[in-house]
Amino acid sequence: MTVASILAAKGRNVLTAGPDTPLSAIIDSLARHKVGAIVVTNAAGAVVGIVSERDIVREIAGRGAGVLDEPVANCMTRKVVSCAESDTVNDVMNVMTVNRFRHLPVVSNGRLAGIVSIGDVVKRKIEQVERDAEEMRNYIATA
Ligand code: AMP
Repeated sequence: MTVASILAAKGRNVLTAGPDTPLSAIIDSLARHKVGAIVVTNAAGAVVGIVSERDIVREIAGRGAGVLDEPVANCMTRKVVSCAESDTVNDVMNVMTVNRFRHLPVVSNGRLAGIVSIGDVVKRKIEQVERDAEEMRNYIATA
């Protein structure tokens, strides 16, 4: 089970914003699209950061609601870890667990090709466990 199969099911749309986008607009977009993170790209489309709900909560808690008027570049994570379409669901789970984050942009040929969240990964994992159990039940029933 690979990242490519997750993208084939969920689509390749990624919510992006420019680094100058005010945090208030980022919050609006997160809420409207019901997602937990936005990938920040520059004018050339290159990934320059990622911002999640956690970054925003941390900034507001630390510096107050005035940060909502600041550009997202002030609170995004700049060193973005990404994955490839050929990575397996287990690879992705491992990267998310080790790094303690829940979003992984997918990069193909140097371009943003999708995003997988921990929700996508857990869904796939549960489906696989259910399929394995069903196969085992069938095997036992016909043995
Ligand atoms: P999350 O668990 O995805 O809400 O993110 C927790 C923290 O990790 C936040 O500071 C995010 O900016 C950061 N983060 C999330 N995804 C990534 C990623 N793929 N690469 C680097 N940092 C990330």
